[in-house]
Amino acid sequence: MITKTPKKKRQQKQGMLDNVMRQFNHAADIIGLNANIRKILEVTNNELVVHFPVRMDNGEVEVFTGYRVQHNNALGPYKGGLRYHPTVDIDAARALAMWMTWKTSLAGLPYGGAKGGIQLLPSKYSQSELERITRRFTYALGDNIGPELDIPAPDVNTNPQVMAWILDTYMSTKSPNERSKNMHVVTGKPLGVGGSEGRDRATGFGVFLNIKFWAENKKVDLKGKKFIVQGFGNVGYWTAYFLEKEGAILTAVQDAFGSVYNEDGISVEKLLEYSQANKGSILGFADAQAIENKDFFGLDCDICVPAALGNQITAENASSIKAYLIAEGANGPTDVEAEKILLKKGIDIIPDILCNSGGVIGSYYEWLQNRNGEIWHLEEVMEKLEKKLRGSFSRVLKTSKERGVDMRSAAFIIAIERLEQAYEQRGIFP
Ligand code: GLU
Repeated sequence: MITKTPKKKRQQKQGMLDNVMRQFNHAADIIGLNANIRKILEVTNNELVVHFPVRMDNGEVEVFTGYRVQHNNALGPYKGGLRYHPTVDIDAARALAMWMTWKTSLAGLPYGGAKGGIQLLPSKYSQSELERITRRFTYALGDNIGPELDIPAPDVNTNPQVMAWILDTYMSTKSPNERSKNMHVVTGKPLGVGGSEGRDRATGFGVFLNIKFWAENKKVDLKGKKFIVQGFGNVGYWTAYFLEKEGAILTAVQDAFGSVYNEDGISVEKLLEYSQANKGSILGFADAQAIENKDFFGLDCDICVPAALGNQITAENASSIKAYLIAEGANGPTDVEAEKILLKKGIDIIPDILCNSGGVIGSYYEWLQNRNGEIWHLEEVMEKLEKKLRGSFSRVLKTSKERGVDMRSAAFIIAIERLEQAYEQRGIFP
């Protein structure tokens, strides 16, 4: 069942929700957002919390808690990932759903924003347990998701395999002649079951492109520039892959297990091979030294790519940052207080809703192909992605110059103005 949470309860939120609200309010103040539209956008439309039992390999039953928050659908169906992580709770889902609304609006996609997931540590479970957990969660979500209603995708600790299980479970609940009409209920699927070429690398490629556009604008040559990456999952890996190809040097990586550093450079491919053979952990990689996690953000480098979780760059570590560019591969990695410190130091930040938007844009292309029964080539997807992101980047830069604001505020302004226009044209029912 979907319930609305009283607004009063929502105002005591801290952490990511506090950040996204402060970012939203700041931009809304700058543009003098219509007060009625502000009331709508500062709350989520629907919030679903499900508790569901799953039989574990040892025969015991465990009960899990899953979430799906649908923030806004003024521009189209709800869209956003599902994450499997101990930090998933209702506030995290709300914050991440809101960021999705701004992200899809900024990208000019016909989507709204949603996010969800399950509060768990995936490494604790076997593959077949994760399959049963995913299928049972999908069943619990029921018709609250759908190809024209709310379309999940991968996020932290979820991947194409998880999307395939969701698709199969969702389709299995439909009558036979309805089944193949539902291929686009999730994006980020494996290629064999309706996935799109390029969706795997879309987020990281987008982060890289944003860095490239920034560098072009600043007349900076990326060759020989040192970069550090927090998170070596899909986003961190592909960002590093494309930056290395451009001639930049990866000098440090942090993942959930620890941090490694080599000032002469770390081979992206070797690190991937090592981590894949080492249960997904980079710790112990022979061509780099282990360093303390707390020293990671203060390392000497040119570009810093947080591509893991929210609230990683805070007032505590912001002043130690040496990079002159932060490219947000993660959602909400920089908190509002840290951002003030960074901007004062003259550090540029490519904000998450722009920087990592390649992922949802790639999802949109997958959704379109499924919906139209088409299959596009990799080059076609990548070309479209690049064109779209170049447009977004230029718009954000232009707005930031015209209004004299930082890039995040500019990105929020564009996103909010598009929603404001939609509400003004549609009016409020009844
Ligand atoms: N989870 C990704 C994000 O945060 C992708 C969402 C999607 O493709 O729907 O943007």
